[in-house]
Amino acid sequence: MHTLVADHPLIAHKLTALRDVRTETPTFRSLAEELVTLLAYEATRGMRVEQVSVQTPVAMAGGVKLARPAPLVVPVLRAGIGMLDGMVRLLPRADVGFVGLARDEETLVASTYADRLPADLTDREAFVLDPMLATGGTLETVITMLVSRGAAAVTAICLLAAPEGVARLEAAFPDDVPAPVQVVTAALDDSLNDRGYIVPGLGDAGDRLFGVI
Ligand code: URA
Repeated sequence: MHTLVADHPLIAHKLTALRDVRTETPTFRSLAEELVTLLAYEATRGMRVEQVSVQTPVAMAGGVKLARPAPLVVPVLRAGIGMLDGMVRLLPRADVGFVGLARDEETLVASTYADRLPADLTDREAFVLDPMLATGGTLETVITMLVSRGAAAVTAICLLAAPEGVARLEAAFPDDVPAPVQVVTAALDDSLNDRGYIVPGLGDAGDRLFGVI
């Protein structure tokens, strides 16, 4: 598995504002969306393309278009929904699947309560949206679902990651067989606390995006 910590002043600036406890939900939402678009730019760097030619007003020009089949974007419910608009802004032709996992706050173990993914993902590139790579349990489950359905490559886009989660995914997906797995994040934080929160982190991403319910 490959981990990319996107190092860019705009990304660092927006992440700092997201971390700030004084940032309220409306601002948090739009910053998260903008940050995802910037991360998506990095995350899509390896996408497959086909050679094409186009007629300009002056002459023929060689170019590329994104290869078929269309990529699949998978926001992990609920917090991943807050990342969807920022992602499909760059990939408007992507299909969107949904996975819901709930984390038991005592054991921190995640169980699946929603699976709206295509049964066959042969040759498809998948992008998983989950703001916080904490223990890695959720992403390990979702990436395993995608790889077992034949995805050609899986990239997880996370606003923040903890070393514990990265280590877990590296152990679960050690090389590119059967599909390359990549994590793209704005920062690799220090650790997890005993409640499974990323430190220093930004708190509960779902609550900050959608309120405490
Ligand atoms: N999920 C969150 O929303 N925040 C964390 O810090 C860890 C998991």
